[in-house]
Amino acid sequence: MGRCVFFNLPGASGHINPTVGVVEELIARGEEVIYYAGEDSRAKFTKLGVKFRTYDDWFQYTHTASTATNILDFALVEIDMTLKCIEPLLERTRQDNPDYVIYDSCCVWGKYIGEALHKPTIASITTLVSSPWVMLSDARLSAHIVGVLIRGIPMITWARRKGIELMAKIGVKFQGILYHIFDFFACVGELNIVFNTREFQPFANRLKGNFHYVGASIPEGRDLGNLDFDRFHDKPLVYVSMGTVHNHNVAFYRTVMQALANEPVGVIMSIGRNIDIQALGAIPENFTVENFVPQLEVLKRTDVFITHGGMNSLNEALYFGVPVIVVPQQIEQAFNMRRLKKIGVAQPMPKELTPQSIRQTVYSVLGNDRYKQNAKTYSATLRQGGGHKAAAQLILDFVRAHTHGQDWRQAS
Ligand code: UDP
Repeated sequence: MGRCVFFNLPGASGHINPTVGVVEELIARGEEVIYYAGEDSRAKFTKLGVKFRTYDDWFQYTHTASTATNILDFALVEIDMTLKCIEPLLERTRQDNPDYVIYDSCCVWGKYIGEALHKPTIASITTLVSSPWVMLSDARLSAHIVGVLIRGIPMITWARRKGIELMAKIGVKFQGILYHIFDFFACVGELNIVFNTREFQPFANRLKGNFHYVGASIPEGRDLGNLDFDRFHDKPLVYVSMGTVHNHNVAFYRTVMQALANEPVGVIMSIGRNIDIQALGAIPENFTVENFVPQLEVLKRTDVFITHGGMNSLNEALYFGVPVIVVPQQIEQAFNMRRLKKIGVAQPMPKELTPQSIRQTVYSVLGNDRYKQNAKTYSATLRQGGGHKAAAQLILDFVRAHTHGQDWRQAS
């Protein structure tokens, strides 16, 4: 039995959900898992038998629309969190004496703690591998990132000083600002589990490193609920969700209600935990509105999904062969949409959001079998990667290889 410490980002469902099945699988295979995230994830993991911990002694982080949207601001927050937690966490992890360290690619402290302790490191990448090749694949994304990098130039001296200070504190070799800067945008490990497809990753064959594309992570029973699906059994089902971060726009939900009220479709709409359902006014008879739904259960029955285009929502929908209509809220979601539009499984929602434009888009996707067929084909690709089970196997094989090898780190 091996012991693993897993560092994830507090409150970030999109980073946490794909790991639930992996942890479940590791535990089923006899591993011991210590998992760090926010208080809101405790129940999800303790029920699996995980030793769950938060970062509350060192920092409070809330994954909000603004931290999730501005990558430069997020990098600063990430440096701040790392500086606050890395020394005590390193000591605690030393005492835990894990056989390996897994970290979300936004938790740079996980990589450095693993390196300081000479443990095998595994990155969990829940969107796609950030690399210059991603920029080259998409002019709009590229223009945005170049702008961000130019704005970041004045911070480079500061970041270099902080980096040297940080590495010295924990005994990890500082390898130059250009090397470490990438850790704050794409913190790859010795093994990288990418919860996506190779097809989705731009120029996947150009990436140097140990990347494994396991597709969507869809464990049975991740989230159960008691929604009444029977009431929609004789109609196409439209599911609407803007995810867990960009979900505050009451006007958007009202427009969707105006668009689809009394139409021959059923609608399940998840509006997030920050809006009181009463604020939407009268709910049309063919709608079910909730603050949170068991999304995987809903998607099994859905015909078309109106989504913000978060990577998890997209992959979960496509895993079940559900075409998506995307209303992107940040640059990365717009990129996801363009990429999946090329594959023929996503339709952008018109920029001008009116009841009529929403209604027309929904019917154009429902009425065109091509979307359904393409989504089914892409579903097979997403399933081929093996999901959470393949991820657990890759991790255990990788750790075993290192355990049996001699001085692998010194040798590299
Ligand atoms: N989710 C859910 N129920 C809801 C809304 C969202 O279970 O009512 C889950 C969804 O299944 C996905 C995650 O929350 O795993 C959202 O992640 P995504 O990357 O799509 O978007 P984010 O919330 O990070 O913007």
